[in-house]
Amino acid sequence: MKNVGLTTTIPVEVLYAAGVIPIDLNNIFVTSNKGKEYIEKSEMEGFPRNLCSWIKGLFSVALDNNIDQIIGVCEGDCSNTEALLEVWRMKGLHVVPFGFPRNRNIDSIKNEINRLMEVFNVSIRKVDGVKRELHYIRERIKYLDELTWKYDKATGFENHLWQVCCSDFNGDYNKFSHDLEAIISVIEARESRKNEIRLGYIGVPPIFTDIYDLIEGYGGRVVYNEVQRAFSMSGFDICDSIYDMYLNYTYPYGIDFRLEDIKNQIELRNLDGIIHYVQAFCYKGIEDIVVKNKLDVPVLTIEGDLPGQVDARTRLRIESFIDMLKDYRL
Ligand code: SF4
Repeated sequence: MKNVGLTTTIPVEVLYAAGVIPIDLNNIFVTSNKGKEYIEKSEMEGFPRNLCSWIKGLFSVALDNNIDQIIGVCEGDCSNTEALLEVWRMKGLHVVPFGFPRNRNIDSIKNEINRLMEVFNVSIRKVDGVKRELHYIRERIKYLDELTWKYDKATGFENHLWQVCCSDFNGDYNKFSHDLEAIISVIEARESRKNEIRLGYIGVPPIFTDIYDLIEGYGGRVVYNEVQRAFSMSGFDICDSIYDMYLNYTYPYGIDFRLEDIKNQIELRNLDGIIHYVQAFCYKGIEDIVVKNKLDVPVLTIEGDLPGQVDARTRLRIESFIDMLKDYRL
């Protein structure tokens, strides 16, 4: 079967309906132990040092992992993707652009999804069938999220990992579903955690490998992963059309739309504070100004650059932030 690489979440239902294997390049990059090697390879090709590591990682991952075709999201995700696609094309890769239109208009998103269906030669009926199959898995992901914030049993990392992997369901949604049920059984059997500082994590997923464990070591726990939860598309009704789903998916449509959801979740999940992660050299770092201005809970902004463990300075800042939130509670 053909391997189709993704630069971020796209309507994965179309790919499963077409019988190809979706592979989120981000997930390969961040879970491999070759992250820095991938970045160096891209720099050897001429990618600038002062460019986001995710872009450099994705470039090499696609060349090294038998990817037959790539869907690159040029609108609603990263300002660098357009140029990345040009270099992949130059390297001979078959690239298909996709966009989440900035105007957030139903006709515009319909056009984009219909065009993707044409590229992969699938009907809306078939796509809808896959959407219904995936709905059950998305419901179980929603339950795993509840095991995190409502029942206080899942870790921040488990919450992050299972939701972020919904971008491609690890290339095989039946196996994903089976593995998900196994981890849910393990989590359900645990005692609920008590007296932790309840944190939200907002911004792009972390390039750090140990941030969730670190936070828990300091007495906090991430009970809300904003972008990962958006990737999981788990809040929709089975009758919502695929067009409505991707129209109401918060990640691609700007910070104000995302903040509406973030504010609701702060209330619902009773959060003590927010960690806003920004990636070095990412334009989204500017959104931190709006985040700090519009949220009423304490916000700690941290920045990551290379894959690996959290650096000493950031560790200290996270520890101090959690200590400060503990003091607020007294
Ligand atoms: S972190 Fe920012 S610059 Fe890097 S790939 Fe994501 S959106 Fe693009």
